[in-house]
Amino acid sequence: MARKLAAGNWKMNGVTANLAEAAALAKEFVASSVDILLCPPATLITPMAQILKDSPIATGAQDCHSNESGAHTGDISAAQLADAGATYVITGHSERRADHSESDADVRSKTEAVCAAGLTAIVCVGETLGQREAGDALKVVHGQLLRSLPDEIDATKLVIAYEPVWAIGTGKVPTLAEIAEIHADMRATLTERFGDIAADLPLLYGGSVKPSNAADIFAVADVDGALVGGASLKAADFAGIISALEAS
Ligand code: PEP
Repeated sequence: MARKLAAGNWKMNGVTANLAEAAALAKEFVASSVDILLCPPATLITPMAQILKDSPIATGAQDCHSNESGAHTGDISAAQLADAGATYVITGHSERRADHSESDADVRSKTEAVCAAGLTAIVCVGETLGQREAGDALKVVHGQLLRSLPDEIDATKLVIAYEPVWAIGTGKVPTLAEIAEIHADMRATLTERFGDIAADLPLLYGGSVKPSNAADIFAVADVDGALVGGASLKAADFAGIISALEAS
């Protein structure tokens, strides 16, 4: 059975003063029945990991380079992120795919690098609005999933996030039936490729998750948690989502 995970992605938001939100969350969740993660900008990984070190909340990164070291100005390797205090790395977020032209092959290389560094990868997939309106959502997600993952996986070190691009930061959310359809297809695709261990892979939904809609989303079959953007910036909002996952 897949473990449950509430993951927050701060994106390019936050300076030192915002670490108070992480501290508030750590005060509220001294223990939890679910896994909890915050992915701040790279500049805050080390101080956040320090603040969260005695809490059940992990610290992660939002991207990495696929090489371990070398002449890649401005990039950060998975090993360096681990050294900074990260235990998870998000790969293939749609904003990276769009803003940095990251292909599925790039995402696969980065995911391999994350796993090689002993960290857990959260691999993101999801269709655009045009692709959904054309009736291609299932096909797009299926293809992204197959092309973005390594041939060999460790179920304890891999998480998949279904994030329809049109639902990210827009307040729009697919119907529960649409989420269920994609998640069932992802589980079937992963089982066909990796066998029974696919049952242990957490499948997250991401896209405008809020405390007010989290319980309904977590009640959908094969939804094992959420990847949360905007609502993870404030401890009170993210706490509501974590509590909904604990209760699910
Ligand atoms: C995200 O960036 O992964 C995301 C889901 O953002 P939001 O929750 O703000 O839609």
